[in-house]
Amino acid sequence: MIRTAVYPGSFDPITLGHLDIIHRAAKLFDKVVVTVAVNPQKKPSFSPEERVDLIRRATQGMDNVEVQICSTLIVDFARSIGAVAIVKGLRALTDFDYEFQMALVNRNISQEIETLFLTTSAEYMFLSSSAVKQVAYYGGDISHFIPECICGDIQKRLHANSTEQ
Ligand code: ADP
Repeated sequence: MIRTAVYPGSFDPITLGHLDIIHRAAKLFDKVVVTVAVNPQKKPSFSPEERVDLIRRATQGMDNVEVQICSTLIVDFARSIGAVAIVKGLRALTDFDYEFQMALVNRNISQEIETLFLTTSAEYMFLSSSAVKQVAYYGGDISHFIPECICGDIQKRLHANSTEQ
């Protein structure tokens, strides 16, 4: 049996912190489906298609990693593709409260899908997509935060936004 995990998030855009979780999850499962969650309540900087493209480029060569968009409940999506687990990254106590609540809600909806928390690697503890966007907006160097192959595009795009306003 192929054991598949879903790794959901906004990935707006993908950071080295996300990529680290993907690498580690890909060692634990036969297949990892990175899932770009479409949340109408959030105002993303990148469209879902752009986020998928950035993640695909960042995970190129990782044979057991796929990227998909999901606009339904994550547990429903996980069930529909036969996944056994939802993987989440934990940075600090601040992530914990929300993620713990979500995990319990998801368990309530679907008993057969486990939520697995992977602890952030220490160097990415303070790294978030929103921090990257702040730095890029002001033209700062984001190369320590973003996979190298997509760094230029993200920098250009987010900095360009700032000059348009
Ligand atoms: P963000 O909070 O950066 O907007 P996302 O919604 O895209 O994050 O996060 C998707 C998942 O990745 C969540 O489980 C989140 O906790 C995790 N994650 C985000 N950044 C990191 C990081 N630097 N280290 C470990 N996990 C992370």
